[in-house]
Amino acid sequence: ARLLEKIRILLQQIDDVVAQENACIENTTTEFTPSMLTDMISELKASLENVPPPSDKEEKKAKRQKTKQIKVLESHCEKLAEYNRHMRILGKRNSYSKTDPDATFMHMKEDPMGNGQLKPGYNLQIGTENQFMLDFGLYHNPTDTLTLIPFENSFHERYNRFPLEGVADSGYGSEENYRFMDENGIEAYVKYNFFHKEQRADKYVTNPFKQENLYYNEEKDYYVCPMGQHMERTGVRHYRTESGYIAESVAYRAARCEGCPLRCMCFSSKSKRRTIEVNHRLKEYKQKARERLTSEKGFKHRGQRCIEPEAVFGQIKYDMGYKRFRHFGKDKVTMDFAFFAIAFNIKKMCAKIKNQKMTDKNYKNIRVA
Ligand code: SF4
Repeated sequence: ARLLEKIRILLQQIDDVVAQENACIENTTTEFTPSMLTDMISELKASLENVPPPSDKEEKKAKRQKTKQIKVLESHCEKLAEYNRHMRILGKRNSYSKTDPDATFMHMKEDPMGNGQLKPGYNLQIGTENQFMLDFGLYHNPTDTLTLIPFENSFHERYNRFPLEGVADSGYGSEENYRFMDENGIEAYVKYNFFHKEQRADKYVTNPFKQENLYYNEEKDYYVCPMGQHMERTGVRHYRTESGYIAESVAYRAARCEGCPLRCMCFSSKSKRRTIEVNHRLKEYKQKARERLTSEKGFKHRGQRCIEPEAVFGQIKYDMGYKRFRHFGKDKVTMDFAFFAIAFNIKKMCAKIKNQKMTDKNYKNIRVA
């Protein structure tokens, strides 16, 4: 943006005629492109050549200045082309590595310097069952939330169906992920943030001022605050998430908070009345997830999650020492990990067969295809 502003000012200084001809120069919203600037530069050069030779000192000085300005414009044009190239590679990311343009800078779990150093990498997602890798995916975004839907879609591409059940940690518990799983018949055992806090009978659960603990009258659509006052619906807000999903939240406001003896415990903002924002759809999904996660099957899945993908990651990174990709570029890294995943599954299968042989008396009947 700063470069575009510099170009805009420079063009106005160089030649008023060009500035008038290109009304876009005045329009601060116009984005200059390198090709547009190249045309302007050649136009300016041509006009400078057509000027009769300077006769006095003043004219010579003016010509020198104009030539210098055109040179500056040329360097700005080159810079703009370079920035555009960077932006094209960047896409929706906010960083990329010069040695591997497909890799994005991320915080790594291993941080030997202890300074939160960012390193170029890929967000690797794996799906496992009985510690066998069923699928994997490499993503540019460092947060897990945005990887669930593309990962489920890649599973569908591979197996021509979605998994029947999906177990994941709270990093994946967003409205769009719950919705996706719901619409595609995947039973979601996915935690959301504060799930663990909710499960503990501590201050969080018993705090009557928490929005989650306020009474809601579904029929008449109002909340009741701890003082017994109705909080009426005041409006709806739509917002777009990072992935482009449009979520909706409803605002409720207390009628009057002045003079309330609970004011200091109720809310800390400077506004006169307490306002809360509720995403009803997400609330419903969370309720469903809570019921599933606290059911018998949910307990089993939750217990198993730490010995499923986490154990596989542990084996990959610490037992087998596979901590870095050995190639550059997403395609090559995908190939790198695909070979590793195949070898990992074969190793696992051999270990299982070996264990089975030891326990199975009829092991002679076992055939390895
Ligand atoms: S401060 Fe307002 S919202 Fe909070 S308890 Fe008092 S009246 Fe209710």
